[in-house]
Amino acid sequence: MTTSPIVIVGGGAGGLELAAKLGRQYGPSQVYLIDKDTDHIWKPSLHEVAAGTLDIHREGLSYFMLARDCNFTFILGALEQLDKEKKQIQLAPAYNEAGQQLFPQRTITYGTLVIAVGSKSNFFNTPGAAEYAITLDATAQAEQFRMQLLHALTQFQGDVVANQQPAPLNIAIVGGGATGVELAAELTEAVASLHFYGANMQTPERHLSITLIEGAERILVALPAELSVRATQLLASRKINVCTGVRVTEVKKDRLIDQNGTSYAADLCVWAAGIQAPAFLTTLGLETNRINQLVVNERLETADPHIYALGDCAQAPWLGEHGYLPARAQVAHQQANYLCKVIRQKRRQKTVVEPFKYKDYGSLVSVGHSKGVGSLMGILSGKSWFVEGLVARTMYMSLHLMHHAAVLGVLRTASLALGRLLLKRSAPRVKLH
Ligand SMILES: Cc1cc2nc3c(=O)[nH]c(=O)nc-3n(C[C@H](O)[C@H](O)[C@H](O)COP(=O)(O)OP(=O)(O)OC[C@H]3O[C@@H](n4cnc5c(N)ncnc54)[C@H](O)[C@@H]3O)c2cc1C
Repeated sequence: MTTSPIVIVGGGAGGLELAAKLGRQYGPSQVYLIDKDTDHIWKPSLHEVAAGTLDIHREGLSYFMLARDCNFTFILGALEQLDKEKKQIQLAPAYNEAGQQLFPQRTITYGTLVIAVGSKSNFFNTPGAAEYAITLDATAQAEQFRMQLLHALTQFQGDVVANQQPAPLNIAIVGGGATGVELAAELTEAVASLHFYGANMQTPERHLSITLIEGAERILVALPAELSVRATQLLASRKINVCTGVRVTEVKKDRLIDQNGTSYAADLCVWAAGIQAPAFLTTLGLETNRINQLVVNERLETADPHIYALGDCAQAPWLGEHGYLPARAQVAHQQANYLCKVIRQKRRQKTVVEPFKYKDYGSLVSVGHSKGVGSLMGILSGKSWFVEGLVARTMYMSLHLMHHAAVLGVLRTASLALGRLLLKRSAPRVKLH
């Protein structure tokens, strides 16, 4: 008897790990992974891609290669419609850059469907934000920001009189969560490296002026206060201007305006304040919340028992706490492990395992290449410990490696890490082209 496949849509932090685990057990005829992109990237690295300290052409992993290695089928395409009665999904037609159709609309039948399409930035209807601000939602946007930064720093400053310092490049980052803080710190290091290589030799050095704007009374508001105090000090030591309690009400081409009408210079603006799930989720006939997330129960099921959702695109209850699970890679990773067990049990016609219980192991924030700050949850004591410096930074990097290990296995992850380390020794510290 043939069973309809397990179809996972979205090969990110959660979806890819789930596909790899199930693929190894059930094989390519039973496990399909669908993604709208050809390459997988660990999303928490996107601020490094934006700063140019990580080369996307080395970092991205081809889904076709991963499918072959982990024994699942990869289908390139974007989910757009769902027919729950027929247990079918529709993928949008795909076109190349010249507008020629590569694939027509396709229909795929599933036995179990897992939706793991992640999230994107939420502009909260702020006028001008969609037009002038850049987000770090995907590789293309991170690359777009990197190119704009490189051009702005290296272009010939025609109006500068010899030996006179050109005006600084003003970068405003809206959102003092982990993404904004990490990007601000990474940018100072990237620009120091660009100066080191003389990437702006045609003209006197153009310096950066970075302003990090946060609506709450402190940055990293979702994390312990001690962490936010230390991160603020580290940012200040890098001359990053941190403004808290400031709500941006309008984005213009060259500046931002806040609730009091104060203006902040912004040659480049990055929007990293808040998330929302993709809008198409509201059209699937499943319950969604006000930020388009699919509403799931404590077993990550939607109202349809054959359809699950995980990661940033799901609103899942946080058992033992009030409210819902945060949008974090750690949550997506644990949910992937949980759903793997659920699907295995289901296939053996056994009663489904206990509800999903999230274990918070703490949070780590990178504040540059040699520094980090974090709070780790003591598993036995339940208390949190503060970590800082190279230790925190190394632990932060190990999360990325753990994700690779879950997908590629320990040996291949070790050889990949070693290969990248060696390559780094023969390449510039920052991408120069
Ligand atoms: C710059 C940055 C830094 C971050 N730092 C941290 C951190 O330090 N720690 C932490 O825990 N979290 C961090 N996060 C958050 C973390 O990246 C997310 O919580 C995590 O990636 C969510 O995993 P996911 O599987 O739900 O979605 P994602 O990893 O976003 O993957 C979603 C996938 O779905 C695909 N997709 C989207 N739409 C469709 C469609 N219609 N059809 C098919 N495929 C589709 C996408 O191409 C993507 O591959 C960071 C995020 C950013 C942007």
